Amino acid sequence: RRSYSALAKGGPSIAGVGDIIAIASGKGGVGKSTTAVNIAVALAKEFKLKVGLLDADIYGPSIPTMMNLHAKPEVMSALEKMTRGVAWGNLDILVVDMPPGTGDAQLSMSQRLRLSGALIVSTPQDIALIDARRGANMFRKVQVPILGLVENMSCFKCPKCGEESYIFGEGGAKKTAEEMDMKLLGEIPLEISIRTGSDEGKPIVISSPDSSSAQAYVHAAEKV
Ligand code: ADP
Repeated sequence: RRSYSALAKGGPSIAGVGDIIAIASGKGGVGKSTTAVNIAVALAKEFKLKVGLLDADIYGPSIPTMMNLHAKPEVMSALEKMTRGVAWGNLDILVVDMPPGTGDAQLSMSQRLRLSGALIVSTPQDIALIDARRGANMFRKVQVPILGLVENMSCFKCPKCGEESYIFGEGGAKKTAEEMDMKLLGEIPLEISIRTGSDEGKPIVISSPDSSSAQAYVHAAEKV
C-alpha cells in the first residue's frame, strides 16, 4: 500500500499519526462499521502496520433516543476529545468510522481531520449508491482523495445449495465506481459469519482468516 500523507493538506492532524483514513457511507446500515473493523484488522495483521480505530459515528449510538435527548451533539468538541484527547502513540494509520451521511458535520469532520483518503462503503442497492455518489462528491469538494468503493452485501450464497442470490441487485457498485472514476476495492458477500463475527467482537478477518470473505477484506486493505 502506498502512503497518502503527502496528499493530505498540511499532513494529518494528530501528532504521531501517519495517515488518517475515513470509512464513510452515504447512508446508515450498509456495513460501514463492519468494513472499518475488518479493514483495520487486516491492515494490522496482514500488513504489520500500527493501526488505530476511531469510532466517530456520533449519530450511531442509540443513547440519545433512549435518554430522550434532543440537543444536537457537539460534534467538533467531541471530535477534538477523540483525536487530541487520546494517547494514540505512534500510528502508521488511523482508521476512522465516520458518521453516515454527507452533511455539514461529515464535511467539516473531513476537513478538520485532514484525511489522507476516504473509502466509501455501499450496498449494491440503487438508493445506497446514489448516496455513495454524494459521499464521493463531498470528499472531492474538500480535496480528500477517494481510495475506492467497497460493495458490501453484494451477494448471498446459500449455505445449503450454494446458489448465489443478488438480494440488493447485481453489478451496481462496479458501474457506479466506473462512472465516478473510483476503484472498486472489493465485493463483500452477505454472510452469516460476518454478522456473527461483528456481534461477538471477533471480526471475520481474525476468526476465519482463510475464508473468502476475510480474504476479500484483506485484498481491499491492500489497495488502500
Ligand atoms: P453501518 O456502520 O453502515 O451502520 P454496520 O457495520 O453496523 O453498518 O452493519 C449493520 C448490520 O449489518 C450489523 O448487524 C452487521 O453485523 C451486519 N452486516 C454488515 N455487513 C454484513 C455482511 N457483509 N454480511 C452479514 N451481515 C453484515
